[in-house]
Amino acid sequence: MKVTKTYGTRAGADARTGEGTTIRALDDITLSLPTGTFTAVMGPSGSGKSTLLHCAAGLDRPDSGLVMVAGEEMTDSTKAPRGEAALTRFRRTRIGFVFQQYNLLPTLTVAQNTILPLRLAGRRVDRARVERTLAAVGLGDRLGHHPDQLSGGQRQRVAIARALVTEPSVVFADEPTGALDTRSARDVLRLLQETVRVHGRTVVMVTHDPVAASYADAVQFLADGRLAGHLTAPTADAVAERLAHLGDDVTAGV
Ligand code: ADP
Ligand code: MG
Repeated sequence: MKVTKTYGTRAGADARTGEGTTIRALDDITLSLPTGTFTAVMGPSGSGKSTLLHCAAGLDRPDSGLVMVAGEEMTDSTKAPRGEAALTRFRRTRIGFVFQQYNLLPTLTVAQNTILPLRLAGRRVDRARVERTLAAVGLGDRLGHHPDQLSGGQRQRVAIARALVTEPSVVFADEPTGALDTRSARDVLRLLQETVRVHGRTVVMVTHDPVAASYADAVQFLADGRLAGHLTAPTADAVAERLAHLGDDVTAGV
């Protein structure tokens, strides 16, 4: 991907000049993530991690630039944009997304939540596939339960099953372990790892936690909407060390 994303805030418009404040959330980021790898994205709050994920996942459109997924261009602002419907279709078949707060529908059962993307895409719902997907996340015996009958870790595993049920090329996860205790977090991280190692999918995860990042194959650091280095085969210690010094070379030049 190669993207820039600016937010203009009408609410933040300066009363005297009438000019809006613009925030360059992503500043000409060029990033290529090989298929079948697990990447963690880290950086201070407000550095553009969520914006990056949303643009990469087609949940938001960059102002300029290009996002390619599995060799196909998703958004290219230099050409006629894909219509909303086409973008949604592309997203539904190629991309899975996992949110920090699970985003499950409380009135639906675990099985119904899981098959939602298939239904929305108008695809045939293969019961065996749903059962297989839920068994794979350790919830094969919870199909008829509702989200409020599950722990946070179990809810997030339903959300992962929902993200995987369409067999997407890429799974994006925005702080998927942010609301979980250590043990549930580990289960979720192992699942994401398995998604890559066993099923060959590409996973991109935003996290604040160096231990969570150490489950990834590589870490990309972000500061002020720009890439600020990366680490491969990260250990939690190396990640924490790098985070502590993030932005040193940026501020040094100012
Ligand atoms: P992170 O996930 O790293 O905390 P974000 O991607 O959420 O950072 O935000 C990056 C920058 O863009 C921040 O300055 C944030 O305030 C701004 N921003 C994010 N979303 C919006 C929005 N919808 N409207 C205006 N500004 C936004
Ligand atoms: Mg964020």
